[in-house]
Amino acid sequence: MKEYVGQCSVCGRDIYCEDGFLNGYTDSEGRLSCYDEKHAEKEHVENERTNNERTNSERTSSERPS
Ligand SMILES: [Zn+2]
Repeated sequence: MKEYVGQCSVCGRDIYCEDGFLNGYTDSEGRLSCYDEKHAEKEHVENERTNNERTNSERTSSERPS
C-alpha cells in the first residue's frame, strides 16, 4: 500500500507512506521533509536517531523467543 503524503519542504520530492512506513519525516515545525543526504546536518542527526531506534526494537524482538 502506497499513500501520497505530500512534498518535501526542502527539495520538493514526493513523499509517500508505504506499508505504514513514511519515506520522510516531519520536523519540529511540522514541515514535511524527505531523507536526503544533501539536507541539513540537523536533519541527519534526527534521521540517525530514528534509524537506531528502529534497529534496536528489531533486535530486541528477534532475541526474544516467541
Ligand atoms: Zn527533500
